Amino acid sequence: MNICKPVFFATGLFAGTVFAQTPMEKFEFINFSRVNITDRFWKPKMDLVATATLRACIYQTETATPRIRNFEKVTRKKGEKHEGIYYDDSDVYKALEAISYSISTRHDTALEKTADNWIDKIAAAQLPDGYLDTYFTLNGIDKRWTDVEKHEDYNAGHLIEAAVAYYEATGKTKLLQVAIRLANHIDSTFRMANKPWFSGHEEIELALVKLYKVTKDDRYLKLADWYLQQRGRHSQWGNSGYWQDVLPVKEQKNITGHAVRAMYLYTGTADVGSLTGDASYMNAMKAVWKDVVERNMYLTGGIGSTGSNEGFSHDYDLPNQSAYCETCASVGLVFWNQRMAQLSGDGRYVDVLEKSLYNAALDGLSLSGDRFFYDNPLASTGQNTRSAWFGTACCPANIARLVASLGNYIYGKSENGFWVNLFVNNNTRVAIGKDSLSVSQETNYPWDGRVVLKIDPDTRQKFTIHIRVPGWATGEASPGALYRFIQYKPTPVFFMVNGKKTETKIENGYISIEREWERGDKLSFSFPMEILRIRAMDSLRNDVDKIALQRGPFIYCIEGADNPGSVWNILIKPTTAFHPIADHILSEPVIALQATVDQSVAEAEGYQIRTQKKNIKAIPYYTWANRGANPMRVWIPEKIVSVALNAGD
Ligand SMILES: [Zn+2]
Repeated sequence: MNICKPVFFATGLFAGTVFAQTPMEKFEFINFSRVNITDRFWKPKMDLVATATLRACIYQTETATPRIRNFEKVTRKKGEKHEGIYYDDSDVYKALEAISYSISTRHDTALEKTADNWIDKIAAAQLPDGYLDTYFTLNGIDKRWTDVEKHEDYNAGHLIEAAVAYYEATGKTKLLQVAIRLANHIDSTFRMANKPWFSGHEEIELALVKLYKVTKDDRYLKLADWYLQQRGRHSQWGNSGYWQDVLPVKEQKNITGHAVRAMYLYTGTADVGSLTGDASYMNAMKAVWKDVVERNMYLTGGIGSTGSNEGFSHDYDLPNQSAYCETCASVGLVFWNQRMAQLSGDGRYVDVLEKSLYNAALDGLSLSGDRFFYDNPLASTGQNTRSAWFGTACCPANIARLVASLGNYIYGKSENGFWVNLFVNNNTRVAIGKDSLSVSQETNYPWDGRVVLKIDPDTRQKFTIHIRVPGWATGEASPGALYRFIQYKPTPVFFMVNGKKTETKIENGYISIEREWERGDKLSFSFPMEILRIRAMDSLRNDVDKIALQRGPFIYCIEGADNPGSVWNILIKPTTAFHPIADHILSEPVIALQATVDQSVAEAEGYQIRTQKKNIKAIPYYTWANRGANPMRVWIPEKIVSVALNAGD
């Protein structure tokens, strides 16, 4: 890894410095590049992304689609037209960002060479004034910046994110300089010129914050804030809820419109609020978050009920079969909740992050790493199959960049505290107070709830370790009343320091242990891995009289591949007992759930329904649709009336 210091920055700006704690934040997440993941669940997925997923992204970018070709056409200046869709540049940038994260923790000369090659082509396509967008450069530069919907800011945002990521991974500055020139171009065209403008697809806001953090030039933070301030103020663009423009951001309380746009906007809002100290941003975010999580979120942590706007419809409208739940929206929900967690120190945000990460987001990536879901429904009659690529291909590189940077979500640090948010086998080293600390986490989570933390400060020192206690481990299926566990029997979680039980209480989703820690200290605990039954609020009419299953962070489903016949005539009664079994979906080791249930069948004469016994198997939701097209459902009827009516999944 080349980490030579660039000459045009005043301070050391290497991997790990981007997430510096602001005065508003309770802790800062520790950058993934400092976390060595050795986990049995996540490490194989990171390796898969580094190989199969990125190979698919590169093949599609270079060979199967005209994405790179558009940059080459700009450079050739032969009057050739743009091919593809006007936001295709963003897929190149997002793949570059995923490559950057991957090579940060898993060196790969060939990937870096591919990235350098792309960067040369991108840089060559930038116009002298800093503008960079192959669609308008090839199809009519005079029309640039005339249509807010045409994703110029969105493309720019992804370029900036890629540039920051690649700089942090390699120390190379070429793409960062391209990003700076483009950001300067946008800033002088709009904010400095006081010209009204607006991001029709939000994304640039959070990207500019990253650029600000890496350059320390507050011009980019001001531009990010300026972008936020444009919303809800310019009726010439329709003040549409589709792109969260009905009200100024600081006055927003309700989630509307396109889910990915919303997630990127609110991630950027939390970032700007935290850096500017403007609490009104955070207050708005808290209200919108409640609206999402308490009225508009699927059990899997997916969001977006309808494909008609790729987003939200109305409160409690959460159909299962037609659920949109775009992979990108779940990735965005992870980003947003990460920001909310560090601003608030509230574990509920990590609960939502974890729910989305292990279910709706991870479902977007096949077990083979080279097939993808764009939408992630909670029921299927067998019409859903994973694709090698999409015409609009935002999702593949998005799940790739999330998995490749998983280490971003595990630990946090504050002035005198160390925060454990996710449970993943890994080790890290971090400065706390005046000293440094090595921590290793040993666990077989998410299949097993036991976790051992080895704490090795360089010298004996007093600080506080905060451990997130997942809501699901203490009886909360989801923040708010949308979902609840039934027949729930609480199991206490004990925290042991060097084998001795320590008295703690949960506050804001964390337990805190303050002591003088010394080399060799061990902190251990075990979350109960019971099989949990979930019922939805009555307002979710598609889930009435139905039950869903959870174990650890995983939501389960029943799929035709394991349950020949039908998954649509199965009943789970209150008395049905489920048992965990070690199993495999293809080569993926999982804990499956087995039970003997009632199955409704028609009598031979066709006028009566009766039930018969059937052995079924439920599997973690993220593993479905890897064995061909199959029917699947997450919410399973409890009563025969639901089966008979085949009621509205
Ligand atoms: Zn997408």
